[in-house]
Amino acid sequence: MDIEKVVRQHLKMEQFFSGFTLKGKTGTDKPQQKKDNGMTSAEKAADLEKIAEEVNQCRKCGLGSIRTNAVPGEGNPNARIMFVGEGPGADEDAQGRPFVGRAGQLLDKIIVACGLKRSDVYIGNILKCRPPDNRDPRADEIISCLPYLQRQIEIINPEIIVALGAHAAKTLLNTTKSIGQLRGQFLEYYVGINRPPVKLMATYHPAYLLRNYSPDNRRKVWEDMKKVLAELDLPIP
Ligand code: SF4
Repeated sequence: MDIEKVVRQHLKMEQFFSGFTLKGKTGTDKPQQKKDNGMTSAEKAADLEKIAEEVNQCRKCGLGSIRTNAVPGEGNPNARIMFVGEGPGADEDAQGRPFVGRAGQLLDKIIVACGLKRSDVYIGNILKCRPPDNRDPRADEIISCLPYLQRQIEIINPEIIVALGAHAAKTLLNTTKSIGQLRGQFLEYYVGINRPPVKLMATYHPAYLLRNYSPDNRRKVWEDMKKVLAELDLPIP
């Protein structure tokens, strides 16, 4: 095998998970290629803020009465990439912001390794309130909460959704397939009958990666993200 190639791959992997600052173009340096949904940035920001206010008042499911803070989601209203996780954990519940704990720090590294900044993307969850003891979301909670995320996706109109983990992928794709079967390929999320589907890449949740920090799992996530960058015609670091 080509030793140089192996070394290059290894260095890329190290860079991916070390938070190494990359030189070169970011997502915002690229010309805006995103298809417009007819909304201005200001309109998008205002509508996302309205959803956040609704979420902060929401008691549609039982999680609303036991949360510290709701976590509506945050990021660029014009994001080309939207990351969607399962639900808030303890750190997110305490701060009211998505992906700010250890898993969030790993997601930040993944975003930086892609040559992007957190402010380039939008980060949200299927559930906006933390399930107790980080248990899996229940079907009734997902049914109650999903319309908020669906509206966020319609407003942001991302070119690609990256579903983080099995719960996000299965919910958005309406399937019972495992994350192992779903990841690594572009699938489709349907916004509505009159709208073209959004490309969706499923990959492992950063919390899963932290628990299973093997070179193979890290390589798989990096491969998934490289496909996302290539699809958006962004440079692959
Ligand atoms: S999890 Fe969603 S539906 Fe349930 S209370 Fe929170 S915001 Fe409302």
